[in-house]
Formats: sequence, structure tokens, C-alpha cells
Amino acid sequence: MSQPTAADLTLPEASDAPALSERYQQVMMNAFGGPKRVFVRGEGCHVWDDQGRKYLDLLSGLAVTALGHAHPAVLSAITSQLSTLGHVSNFFATPAQVTLAEKLVHLVAPASGTGQARVFFTNSGTEANEAAFKLTRLTGRTRIIAMEGSFHGRTMGALAITSNVKYREPFAPLPGDVTFVPYGDSEALAEAMDDRTAAVVIEPIQGENGVVVPPDDFLTHARELCDAHGALLWFDEVQTGMGRTGRWLASHPVTPDLVTLAKGLGNGFPVGACIGIGRAASLLQPGQHGTTFGGNPVAAIAGLAVIGVIERDGLLRNAIERGEQLVREVEGLDDPLVDHVRGAGLLRGIVLTEQVATSVSDALLDAGYIVNAPRPDVIRVAPPLIITEGQISSFVQALATALRDARP
Ligand code: PMP
Repeated sequence: MSQPTAADLTLPEASDAPALSERYQQVMMNAFGGPKRVFVRGEGCHVWDDQGRKYLDLLSGLAVTALGHAHPAVLSAITSQLSTLGHVSNFFATPAQVTLAEKLVHLVAPASGTGQARVFFTNSGTEANEAAFKLTRLTGRTRIIAMEGSFHGRTMGALAITSNVKYREPFAPLPGDVTFVPYGDSEALAEAMDDRTAAVVIEPIQGENGVVVPPDDFLTHARELCDAHGALLWFDEVQTGMGRTGRWLASHPVTPDLVTLAKGLGNGFPVGACIGIGRAASLLQPGQHGTTFGGNPVAAIAGLAVIGVIERDGLLRNAIERGEQLVREVEGLDDPLVDHVRGAGLLRGIVLTEQVATSVSDALLDAGYIVNAPRPDVIRVAPPLIITEGQISSFVQALATALRDARP
């Protein structure tokens, strides 16, 4: 039998793509509604659709492609790992997996000694949270306190700590013993906690809820309360971690017991991690949790490449500077539709005075700029950390036009 050639296996040409939206609707489950565009290529901060139109990607595939599209360092790391050793399962170790774990432990818990912080690798954010959730049960307590407005993923455990009723209700009953308290409210958190609390789970910034930032001292209070009650403090940094806010973790300098990562870690190659610090590092025993793909060497090398480039190219600093520029320029428009811009680094929510974020986001897409509207009055901007000053300014100009056209 003849072997298929690379040409036999390639994806359709761009010229076949116009019908792709229709084919998508026939063959894909209707989980996401119809696709807004068909994209066929990406490079740096740009992607191209099947009609040859170029877009400035200010969403990074939902805060994922931190180094932009087709980054040469990620490409070369992945291809060389794949051509050397692609997969072995967790019966075995690989250098990439162990090296990424060491790197993450160092970034997330620099003060930890050997064995005081440990990693469980996953393929996604929800799986990282699922692992963390299971770890909390190993404390011997079951009670979890989560936040109103939270989003932690779509698997049953992650859904149980996600507050949105629309996401939860069709799937009841979810794992129980979860209490929701208002986000950022230290007093409500203190009231809800006691010595039966297993863990408190917090996003340092609520991305899906519209880039909501809690009061400055909220994470510190949560740390103190967890210490007082012997509960684990669990930060979900799936969206905020890996440099997105200009720090490796948005929660820095507050140290959690559990931290979950995904999204930006692999620049689009699926990889997530649940990291336990202190006593949470040693809760898991053989046989209690597992994964076939998690920690796969190709995924791990992608993570190492991402961290290496962020360090080498000073992208934490760029995230801070470009984020500040975005706030300055958007607020400087003095547009009556802009209330203010919130967030940190390059995770920003442009808060509008009217519920027109979806139509503004659609108009920006038509103009060649990708953002989204996590709430009717918030436009989320989460561009690659490599974005330039000129690209931010060009977006702000396009935004000014879209806002003008959206005025009631
Ligand atoms: N946690 C947070 C804070 C998220 O923003 C998301 C994704 N938007 C998830 C978890 C779930 O990640 P994934 O889609 O990779 O499962």
C-alpha cells in the first residue's frame, strides 16, 4: 500500500474556503453559534481570512497567542521536539516536561525550596481547575468558596465553581458544597469562611466577567483568611497568568497554595498546569488523578519556548507599557461612549456607557480589528504581548470611528 504524501494530507486551499462556514454549520455541533470569519493564516499580530483580508488580532485567540501567530521560536521548538520524541505517556518522564515544571515552579513560587512546589500538567484551563478541585478534596474538607461573576471552565468540577446560572443550570446536579460570595468583598468572604472551608478560588482579574478588577487588598485578605482557617487559597490564572498582565502571575506578590495556568502558556499549543505550593504540593498520591496527554513533551517544549521568548524579549515590560498606552489613548478620545478602561497590562476592558459593545466589536471586525464583548457594555482587548506602539494607536483610531458610528 502506498503511503499518503504530505500533499494528500494537507488542509483545503484558501480557494475552497468560502463554503467553509456552511460546511461548519453542517458538521460542527452548535456550541459556538456560526463562525464570524474563516481564518487561514497568521503571522505576528495579524491573521488573514479566506478572502485575503488582513486583521490586527487584539484578542489573541482569547488571551492565548502571547507571542503572536507562527512565532519562529515556538515553531522550531515544537517541530524539533516532534521529530525527536512526540509522546510517551505519564508512565515515563521527558526532559521537556521536567524542565518546564522546574521553570514554572521558579516563576510561580520563587521562594519555594525543593519539593515545596509541584506541577500537574493538563491540556486546558478547565482541566487544570479540575485537578485543583480534586486536590482540595484531599484536604479532608469539601467546602469551596467561589466568587460571583467567576468563570473557571466547562467541565463539571470547573462548572460547579463558575457562577453563571446560564452555563450551570442545564447540567445540574454539579459537584456540591460550593458557596458564592461577591467578588472583591473581603467582609463577605470572611463571613462565609470557617474551619470547614477546604479552599477559596479566585481569579485575580475576572476576564470573562468583563475584565473586573477587585480592590487592591482583596487577595491579601483572602490569603490571611485562608491561613486563619487552614483553607487552601487557589488562584485561577488561566487567563491572567504567563505575563498577560505584565507579571508572570497577576496575583503577585500574594502567594497562593494552588495556581492554575493554561491559555498563554503554549501560545496556542494546548497546555495547562495546576501548581501546588507548600502542603498542596504533596496532597496527590499515585492513582488519584491522571491524564494521557498532560505534560506531553511537545506541549512542554512549547511552554518552554514561550517563557524563553517572554524573558529574552522583555515582553512583561512591553505588556505594561502597551497596556498603559491603550488606557491613555482610549480615555484620551474623550468619547461619550467610553466610561473608562480597566484591567492590567494587556488584559483590558473598555467599559462603555451604553450596551453597545457587541455592535462596536462587530464593526471593528469589519474594519479589520479583532476584539470581543464579554459583556454588553465591555470590549475586551487582549492582544499578543509583542504588540507595537503603532499597532495600538491604529486600533484606537479604528475604535474612535466604530464608537462614533455606534452613538445612539
Ligand atoms: N479559567 C479562566 C479564568 C478562564 O478565563 C478560562 C477560559 N476562558 C478557563 C478557566 C477555561 O479554560 P479552557 O477553555 O482552556 O478550558
